[in-house]
Amino acid sequence: MQFSSHGFCCIGGEFPKAVVDRETFEYLLPLAYQWAKTQEEFVLARGNPLGPRHAHDANLAGVRDCARVRVLLVDRIPLPENPELAEASKRIGIITEDTRCAGFGHALIIRVDAWNDRELILHNLVHIAQYERCGGLEQWVRHYLVDRTNCPNFTIGPLEEEARRIAREIVRSPEYNVGGCAADAAVSTVR
Ligand SMILES: [Zn+2]
Repeated sequence: MQFSSHGFCCIGGEFPKAVVDRETFEYLLPLAYQWAKTQEEFVLARGNPLGPRHAHDANLAGVRDCARVRVLLVDRIPLPENPELAEASKRIGIITEDTRCAGFGHALIIRVDAWNDRELILHNLVHIAQYERCGGLEQWVRHYLVDRTNCPNFTIGPLEEEARRIAREIVRSPEYNVGGCAADAAVSTVR
């Protein structure tokens, strides 16, 4: 299966070598957290509760507090306004112009053309479950980014691996495909 960008993660692409040194990382980390927090607050204020299909998937992905999740459908996922952060994010492949879905905090942002990509959405719901386990957005952002920047080839890290694995296992299970079809009929599109 061919993947494109997965929110806080790029899948299937070639990554450049690690190019963010420790000092730059420590400088960018709080900016990354602030960016994620601003995005989350926007989505929590403007987004819709999960529909039946995505609520079903959020449960499968391990999200504990599904009622708090808000989903926002967008034409494009916004890049950070800070030029240094945006540049690092694109270079590393975390948020790029090709990003189609992002999940952090209790916010799920879905680009219009990814609305029916259930594995991609499940993947980002796993990130939301990870955030709940981490005990806060700041902790999750640090954990996620430290994991990725510590990877020898600047690839993915344990949180990213877990999100890919769980999403893949769910969509490949026979029970999921039966339940998924039934839930599909009940979904309504939000904008
Ligand atoms: Zn991911």
